[in-house]
Amino acid sequence: MIYLDNAATTAVYPQVVDAIKEVYEDVYFNPSSTYGGGIKVKKIIASSREFLAEELGVSSKEIYFTSCATESNNWALNQCLRSKKGNLIISAGEHACVFETAKYLKERGVDVRVARLKSDGTVNMEHLLSLIDDSTYMASVIHVSNETGAVNPIAEIAKAVREKNPSVLIHSDGVQAFMKTDCAPKRFGVDLYSVSGHKIHAPKGIGLLYASSRVNIKPLIHGGGQENGMRSGTENVGGIVALAKACEIFKERKQQYLNLNIRNLAISLLKEKLGDDVSVFSPDNAGEFILAFSVSGIKAEIIQTMCFDCGVAIGRGSACASRHSGNRVLSEMGFSKREIDGALRLSFCPDTTKEDVKLGVNILCECVEKLRGHKIG
Ligand code: PLP
Repeated sequence: MIYLDNAATTAVYPQVVDAIKEVYEDVYFNPSSTYGGGIKVKKIIASSREFLAEELGVSSKEIYFTSCATESNNWALNQCLRSKKGNLIISAGEHACVFETAKYLKERGVDVRVARLKSDGTVNMEHLLSLIDDSTYMASVIHVSNETGAVNPIAEIAKAVREKNPSVLIHSDGVQAFMKTDCAPKRFGVDLYSVSGHKIHAPKGIGLLYASSRVNIKPLIHGGGQENGMRSGTENVGGIVALAKACEIFKERKQQYLNLNIRNLAISLLKEKLGDDVSVFSPDNAGEFILAFSVSGIKAEIIQTMCFDCGVAIGRGSACASRHSGNRVLSEMGFSKREIDGALRLSFCPDTTKEDVKLGVNILCECVEKLRGHKIG
């Protein structure tokens, strides 16, 4: 299988599987147990937390492990319920888990305002700033778009927002950014930042939320006081260890991937084979791991199924949203229904090779050819 859908999820690294196995077979103790085994596991969690905090350039006290980024994003945005008078600003480019949480908050009386996108998929800063006022409580802007790979200039956004209202909390969904682009929430002036394990070769079921001490975050789950009393429940030790291990390996392999210029290779192969029939949705300066495009007159759903049956997994829009028709983010960027119906997404990982891309694009083009009933190129 040629797997080119890494923005949906990734294969767990074998070394990560080994690390998890060790946890479950050798150090399966409850981290809250006060005897040697428990103390050892507590230390393992602490060192994973320390490693991840260092990676993000934050204090380990500001890292809270969660079950996924959906949970992290819900937790972050739900802080708005503490300040019903304050408004919440989100960008129109948010993932469903931010968008739907904002909808939920709106139903509960929070004044939710949505900042428009520019045609390159980044947030329209002027519009965003025009929505900020004295009662703005939080602004949430995705770091790297899961749809197009467009990178929002988070540091610039945080600075401009704060110039207008210094008390605004800034949240950013960092799921498609973490390990893939410069991620330093504290340096960027971001107060809340969400990360997911399964996008970087850790298993599903582990994520984290960075919350700066400025946030004064309120507990998500009450109970035994784990995660500094903020998210009770016996820790997902395997997941936590896996997240740190995956992060370590991703970091080692990232540069070799970047040197291959995989995203550009995919663009030039698609253009070479399909010519003007291919429309690229991702902006030129998008992140290196996502390429969104469509092939004129071809329905994404059909080509995706055909490709998978030929051994190539490709995405279309976000995996969560692809069950629904249409695409909120691409239509906000100004693409037509016809283009959106054909929206495909290739997404890569540090192990993606040039061969994967060449073969993957070849098979994709053969499928297009079969659908059209004539030879391309
Ligand atoms: N945010 C973005 C940008 C994503 O791409 C995803 C997953 O596709 C999520 C949030 C949700 O992450 P999780 O699956 O960890 O809940």
